Amino acid sequence: MIIDSQDTIVAIATAPGEGGIGIVRLSGADAEKLLNHHFVAVGSDSPLTSHRLYYGHFRHADGELIDEVMAVVMRAPRSYTKEEVVEVHCHGGSVVLRRVVDLFVDDGARMARPGEFTLRAFLNGRIDLARAEAVIDVIRSRSEAACRVALGQMEGRLSRQIFYFRDQISDLLAEVEAGIDFPEEELPLADRKRLIITSNTVEQKMEVLLHSFESGRLLREGLSILIFGKPNVGKSSLMNTLLGEARTIVSDIPGTTRDTVEESFILKGMPLRLIDTAGVRQTLDPIEVQGVQRAQAKVAGVDLVLLVIDGSQPLDDEDRKAMQVCDPERTLLVVNKQDLGSCVLPVEFTAIPSVSISAQSIEGIQNLLDRIVSFFSQNSGSEGRETTLLSDRRHREALLLARNALERFRSTVTDEQPPEFGALELREALQALGEITGETAPEDILEKIFTRFCIGK
Ligand code: GDP
Repeated sequence: MIIDSQDTIVAIATAPGEGGIGIVRLSGADAEKLLNHHFVAVGSDSPLTSHRLYYGHFRHADGELIDEVMAVVMRAPRSYTKEEVVEVHCHGGSVVLRRVVDLFVDDGARMARPGEFTLRAFLNGRIDLARAEAVIDVIRSRSEAACRVALGQMEGRLSRQIFYFRDQISDLLAEVEAGIDFPEEELPLADRKRLIITSNTVEQKMEVLLHSFESGRLLREGLSILIFGKPNVGKSSLMNTLLGEARTIVSDIPGTTRDTVEESFILKGMPLRLIDTAGVRQTLDPIEVQGVQRAQAKVAGVDLVLLVIDGSQPLDDEDRKAMQVCDPERTLLVVNKQDLGSCVLPVEFTAIPSVSISAQSIEGIQNLLDRIVSFFSQNSGSEGRETTLLSDRRHREALLLARNALERFRSTVTDEQPPEFGALELREALQALGEITGETAPEDILEKIFTRFCIGK
C-alpha cells in the first residue's frame, strides 16, 4: 500500500450526502499550484497568505463556474500532514464536490486512500502511531467517555509515557553495552543494584498502565451486558424496555427468538452493549452438554449478566441451570413480572444482588438502570479524566511484551549473566515499545491500522 508519499493526494473530507458545506482536501507539494489553476480569490491578489480563508470562484479551465467557495492554503510544515495542504469549502452536494475532485485529478492529483492524510502526518513525524490511531477513535467514539479517552491519547498522553519508558530502557542499554565493551571488568555490585532499581521502577509504572486496560477497554468498547435466562421469562421484553423501543420480536411461544440480538446505547455518557440470548432453552438443555458449554462461553465473554427469572412463578431446574453458569461477581438477578405477583426466592438465588421489575409496566426499570451505571462506574474507575488509560489491545500486547522482557533483563542482572544476554532483552523491550509509537512498527501493522480510517482523514 503504503509509502508512495511523493504524490499530491485529494479527497472529499466531509461525510457523504447533502450538507451545508462540503470540503475537498489536498495534500502534497503541488497542492497550492493545483488550487491556483481553478481558484480566483475575490478582491485579493495572489499569492494567497497561508492559513487564511479566502472567498472566491472555482472554475473549470474553460472558464465555467463550478462553485462559489472558500479556500485556504496551509503551507508546510504548519499543516495536518506537515505537507502543503489546501482545503476548498464548497456547497455541500455530491455533484459539486465530485467535479472539484475530478478537476484536481485531471491536473495530476491522486485520489487519497483511507487514512492517507493521517498516515502522512505520521510518516512526516508530526504525530506518532499511537496518536494517529487515536484520531480514528475520536471520530468513531460513540460516547463522551470513549471520546475522552481517545482525545487524551490523540494529544499524546499515552505516547509520553511510552517515550519515558523508552528513554529509561535506552539508558539501561547504554550502560549494559558499556559492560560488553569491557568484558574483563566485572560490573560492580553498586552498578548492578542501580540497574535493578531502575528496571524495577519502570516495570512498576508499566504495570500501572497495564492495569488501566480494563477501564480503558470499558470506556472505549462499552460495557457488554448479556440478558440471560430460560425462555419466556421476559428477556426480549426487558431488552425492548431498556432500549425504549421495540427492536426485537417479542413472542408468547417459548424459545422462538433464535439468534443473539445486540444493541448499543448510551447511558449517562457511558457506552453499553446489550445482548439478548435467544434460544436459551436449547442451549441449556441438560442432556446436551455442548449446549451448557455454549451458554457458559456466552456468559464468560461479557462484563455483566442480567439473569432474568419470572418472579411470579416458582423457580425450576432450568432457572437453576441458568444461575449455575453465572459468575456471582458479575451477575445481577432481575426478578421480572412483578405485576403478576412474587414468589419467595430459593436461598441460592438470594446470594446475588437482585432487582425486582416488570418489563411490561416498566416498574423498577430506573432502579435497574441505576444499578447498571454503578456497576460500570465501579469497574471503569473514576480515573478516566486525568490518568493515562490503555484502551487498545494492540498497545496492551506490546506493553506486555516489553514488561516481560524487562523482567527477564532483571534476572540476567541478578543471576550475573553476561551483559550480552541482558542487552538482548532490553532491545526486545525497546522493539515492543516502538511498535506502539510506530518507531519500529512493520508495514503490515501500519496497513492494518490505516485501512480502518475513512477516506479524507
Ligand atoms: P423471552 O423468551 O425471555 O425473551 O421472553 P419474552 O420477552 O418473549 O416474554 C415472554 C412473555 O412474557 C410475553 O408474552 C411477554 O409479554 C410476557 N412478559 C414479559 N415481561 C412481562 C412482565 O413484566 N409482566 C407480564 N405480565 N408479562 C411479561
